[in-house]
Amino acid sequence: MSDIIRRDPRAEWIARNRLHPLHQAMQAAQGGETRWMGPNGVVRKNPHAVGFIGPNGVKRIDRSGSQQGTVGKRSSAPEVVQLPLHVVEQPAFVIAVVPDMVGGRLSSHDRDLLGLARKLAGSDGAVLAVVFGEHKETAFDTAGVDRLLLIDGSEYEGYAPEQRVLALRAVEGQFTPRHWLLPDSRTGGGELGRRLAASLGERPATRVWQAEGERCTGRAGAGQQDIQRPLPRLILAAAECAEPVSETRHEARSVGLDGSVARNLPRIEDLGPVAVDPAQIPMAEAEFILSGGNGVKDWNLFHSAAVALGATEGASRVAVDDGHMPRNRQVGATGTWVTARVYLAVGISGAIQHLQGIGACDKVVAVNMDPGCDMIKRADLSVIGDSSAILQALIRLAEEYRNGAARDAA
Ligand SMILES: Cc1cc2nc3c(=O)[nH]c(=O)nc-3n(C[C@H](O)[C@H](O)[C@H](O)COP(=O)(O)OP(=O)(O)OC[C@H]3O[C@@H](n4cnc5c(N)ncnc54)[C@H](O)[C@@H]3O)c2cc1C
Repeated sequence: MSDIIRRDPRAEWIARNRLHPLHQAMQAAQGGETRWMGPNGVVRKNPHAVGFIGPNGVKRIDRSGSQQGTVGKRSSAPEVVQLPLHVVEQPAFVIAVVPDMVGGRLSSHDRDLLGLARKLAGSDGAVLAVVFGEHKETAFDTAGVDRLLLIDGSEYEGYAPEQRVLALRAVEGQFTPRHWLLPDSRTGGGELGRRLAASLGERPATRVWQAEGERCTGRAGAGQQDIQRPLPRLILAAAECAEPVSETRHEARSVGLDGSVARNLPRIEDLGPVAVDPAQIPMAEAEFILSGGNGVKDWNLFHSAAVALGATEGASRVAVDDGHMPRNRQVGATGTWVTARVYLAVGISGAIQHLQGIGACDKVVAVNMDPGCDMIKRADLSVIGDSSAILQALIRLAEEYRNGAARDAA
């Protein structure tokens, strides 16, 4: 083993940040003691080391002690916090959720919806997630799913809302959910929910952002007005309608449909996705953004990298002010607030005004020379090095990957 001391700036930042969900684990990783013998033979305890900080920043104490006792362990990897398992053996009723699963994974909107479903399910109801087609999600359990119904088949692929409604009608017949919850989104849920409502003869509540007790509040009038109404059976909920589940684990037990679903005579034919120029995608809707800042030294190389990666271009304010990028590409408090699944920040220091704009991004990758900068602390993955060298390497790897894929296909 080399004697070079390796620092992990992200781990150090988490260890300082008491609101971070891994804060407690990082304390343990740094050898924080909770009990020790004082010089007079008296056992000393550190009361601050008891419990753990939940993902919402609230301190939780598990009286079973299963989440404590990390005393004196020295390990570089953070402890994985095992959340308590919530089991609903015989559900009194079911709350059905149909997540959008954009890219095959639960989006943050889907997770908010599952959080709302858990709230409505209480302790004796079960949350049933109905998922169409293949998925890549591995965290249904921690997202609050008690029962998981996978509905697979070529007839559900692509744009097939009529066929999906037929399947949901079969779910209705078998499980008779107390509530149906779908995301009121443009990625499928909004349309599917309205079609399902028409098919079931239910009057849905739309753009619901709050549901308390027997009432819910939805946004209307171009977002200027709130409408309150009794909680209906079918709810089309907006993002942030509830806190996602963060303190329990669920079974995500697989269930199936008893009968077969009728085949729909397609009135709409899906001819497949159309390739769009990533540069034409509005920033707020882009899934993959390559963003450049003051640390980008070769802007032609940056544009080539965006083309090679198929990414939408973004920029920091300094890059825009210096004339390297147009104003409509600025990300941040005074630019666009983006919601990309992957945000690749090259040579951006991570000023608070910039970080505000990327708060809703799923994964942030940072390329920077300075391992201590705020963007590296925010990032899920960091590459320390010169932007030009790394952009060149990315272009080469993307081309190799494409050529390899083309060879395999030939
Ligand atoms: C009211 C107000 C509103 C603002 N709104 C916004 C906003 O909406 N969006 C926004 O972005 N900013 C905004 N700002 C500006 C913000 O405060 C920062 O000044 C700006 O984000 C910094 O941009 P930067 O990270 O590209 O540049 P710098 O802060 O100069 O950072 C450059 C980074 O590149 C790295 N670097 C240097 N050379 C290399 C290299 N060769 N390879 C790799 N990395 C390298 C450096 O280590 C550094 O981290 C606002 C400021 C104010 C006062």
